[in-house]
Amino acid sequence: MTQRENISVFHMFKIGVGPSSSHTLGPWRAAQQFVEKIQSTTGINKVQRVTVHLYGSLAKTGKGHGTDIAVQMGLCADDPVTFDVYAIAGKINSIAHDKTLPLAGVNPITFDPQVHLVYHMDKALPFHPNGVTFEAFDGSQTLSETYYSIGGGFVVQEGVLPGNAADENIILKHPIDTAEHLMDYCNETGLSISDVVFINETSWRPEVETRTGVLNIWRVMRECIYRGCQTRGELPGGLRVIRRAETINRNLLQQASYQNYEEWLALIKSGGNQFSYILDWVSCFALAVNEENAAFGRVVTAPTNGAAGVVPAVLMYFIAFCNGNDDDKIVRFLLTASEIGSIFKKGSTISAAMGGCQAEIGVSSAMAAAALTEAMGGNPAQALMAAEIAMEHHLGLTCDPIRGLVQIPCIERNTMGAIKAITASQLALQGNPSHAKVSLDGVVKTMWTTAQDMNSKYKETADGGLAVNVPISLPEC
Ligand code: SF4
Repeated sequence: MTQRENISVFHMFKIGVGPSSSHTLGPWRAAQQFVEKIQSTTGINKVQRVTVHLYGSLAKTGKGHGTDIAVQMGLCADDPVTFDVYAIAGKINSIAHDKTLPLAGVNPITFDPQVHLVYHMDKALPFHPNGVTFEAFDGSQTLSETYYSIGGGFVVQEGVLPGNAADENIILKHPIDTAEHLMDYCNETGLSISDVVFINETSWRPEVETRTGVLNIWRVMRECIYRGCQTRGELPGGLRVIRRAETINRNLLQQASYQNYEEWLALIKSGGNQFSYILDWVSCFALAVNEENAAFGRVVTAPTNGAAGVVPAVLMYFIAFCNGNDDDKIVRFLLTASEIGSIFKKGSTISAAMGGCQAEIGVSSAMAAAALTEAMGGNPAQALMAAEIAMEHHLGLTCDPIRGLVQIPCIERNTMGAIKAITASQLALQGNPSHAKVSLDGVVKTMWTTAQDMNSKYKETADGGLAVNVPISLPEC
């Protein structure tokens, strides 16, 4: 079997902006790529007009997921990793008000979002439900490119094979497509899953850079949790969803004061280990991330934005309640989680538009379950067993966000994914993998066949489920 795709930990964990990796980060990246294409062909200053066509799920739930905002930011050549998230609304408002967009930040072109963003509600492109076509007109001819946002912030250009050209030349010491490959390497070498991933990552960069980069990923995740736990108020979008993490945080700490993350963590740890106390904290961590995500905050895909709270919540649980506050343990946790996400991406999908919410929350839960299991001393077989258990009980989970916003059921669903990951890990740690009837590869395959059978109403279109059965009217505006 040939290896399909080289996926690094930094492909799975990407720093970006909420609320959606497939509908915000991916289209943002696609617009940036289109700008680079213009730079290398037509030339930015010759362009007079740009039109953006959104297809399939990007059209149906694009407004709720911020796709309109993302493509405008990308056309301005702003970067989702570094752009000040608090300045996004002002920038988008001024484009709408002035009907002028600074293409690549240097060429002010006429751009009216009402006219130049075209939502093709009844049309999906054949390759993938998340299609976007950009057209740039220079006065005599039009440059047109189509991109697909295939989940987790990954982008594929039409006519170009999936994967980054630079990654195609990477030769991995342990190429992995399936859980069986991974288990074989672990058995042959006696290494842990995170050891195997560490070795593979050295094909991209020196080990020290991997460590530094992964700790930076954790820093962004941690800051997101902390920020979410301190921020109160209503989420944007019109559903009038009230943030809950701040209230839970305040109640659990009984109004105790702290100045920074370290003091906050010490207070959490000092609260004991009663089951309901830990359970409340895990929910609080997950809610905090996904409330930040819904508010267009800075988050890390894990493997997606909609499911961005599960892995950080479980890692934070490990740090706060399992003696896991150690850089090496944190790095290993995230490396193991990323490998499980890669196996799902290669064998199934991490795109809700292809597979429903099992592809987001289900995958994130499996990632967290395996990582926690290794971190708690489980062997590789137990870690893979934990990933299998976590996904097995997310199979068939639909994606039906109300009003197309990544809020209901998305935010709460991250708490469920985190708790299931911890339960799956405990079951695996208490279990014997040789007695397991379902393999991780078996559940990856099952998830994919379930995805193919799933009605498109339940694949990030907001055409079914809660999205149509919960009558919530938006305020007049
Ligand atoms: S329902 Fe699940 S898959 Fe769909 S947007 Fe929400 S979190 Fe993502």
